[in-house]
Amino acid sequence: MSSSKPKVLITSRLPSVAVEPLRHATVLDYRDEAGPIPRDVFLKRARDIDGLVAQLTDKIDAELLDAAPSLRVVADVSVGYNNVDVAAAKQRGIVVTHTPDVLTDATADLTLGLILGITRRLMEGDRLIRRGGWKGGFGLDFMLGTDLRGKRLGIVGMGRIGQAVARRAAVFGMEIAYTPSAQQARTGGTSAQRTQFDGFTATPLILDELLGSSDIVSLHVPLTNETRHLIDQKKLARMRRSAYLINVARGPVVDEAALAWALRDGVISGAGLDVFEEEPNVHPDLLTLENVVLVPHLGSATRETRTRMAELAVGNCLNVVLGKPPLTPIPEMKPQC
Ligand code: NAP
Repeated sequence: MSSSKPKVLITSRLPSVAVEPLRHATVLDYRDEAGPIPRDVFLKRARDIDGLVAQLTDKIDAELLDAAPSLRVVADVSVGYNNVDVAAAKQRGIVVTHTPDVLTDATADLTLGLILGITRRLMEGDRLIRRGGWKGGFGLDFMLGTDLRGKRLGIVGMGRIGQAVARRAAVFGMEIAYTPSAQQARTGGTSAQRTQFDGFTATPLILDELLGSSDIVSLHVPLTNETRHLIDQKKLARMRRSAYLINVARGPVVDEAALAWALRDGVISGAGLDVFEEEPNVHPDLLTLENVVLVPHLGSATRETRTRMAELAVGNCLNVVLGKPPLTPIPEMKPQC
């Protein structure tokens, strides 16, 4: 009886409530382990699957897709899907889905955490206390940070998360600027007119102008060929010496060696990083600097959000293997209106 059911592979542990629907409707190969699936195991276990629930650490390229000839859906448990070779999937008629919206608030909250962490020197203060370095109690000029009110936040990538960050920052009294969409950036179409968004207004600027005029620059673009090393040595040099860079997008959007140089040489004041070029490795120079806050890819890491992400990915996978439309296909695979 079970042989007529579609076969699904889950590559890493998910919240158990999310796994349940697959247990009943499919022949489930569940790798109930944390951490990325080893490549050789992945290739072997993908052999006769119809559906795949994957993590952003799983590389889904032509080799993997060829190893899984009956595969019909790749359901990523993330909104960014730079781990998937979308062209190769399209060519083979495989649907790719992701988890937009359900992680927007958690990721925006963490971004504000990094902004406050670096501008108010929270982790630096924590380290100082722990090593017994806090002497003399309260001092008027002790460990001064930077106000947010009246400062400009430059959002690079004004999508779901970029807007959620801007909305929060507006409540802190910040003025918002943003880069236009990728399409507008290509055609050069910006106007200096402020744009009304849900809950805030923002000034569209080309990237160089945004970098040169922002007190905090926050990155929220997807990782694509166009955005890889979008922030390199030249772009960092355009920023104000008093400015901060926040990256909650993807590590390779920033040239990490160039960032370490900029932080060390005082080209910019500080940075808050959730993502890194070669996770879980971090550029060794960053580890020695006080003016950078480092967190291990925690953008969406709340119990509630991770559960919603897993449930959505499982829903996507189940729909496709049962012959129904996916809930949240990636933009390249949305039906044309
Ligand atoms: P989204 O709604 O698609 O927003 C991305 C925005 O970036 C869109 O407005 C897009 O414009 C814009 N964009 C793309 N390329 C650009 C370019 N070259 N210049 C200027 N703007 C550009 O996606 P989202 O849900 O906000 O997520 C954004 C990214 O955050 C994800 O792709 C993911 O990599 C990352 N993320 C990280 C974490 C974490 O844990 N750290 C958590 C969630 C998400 P168009 O629509 O015109 O292309």
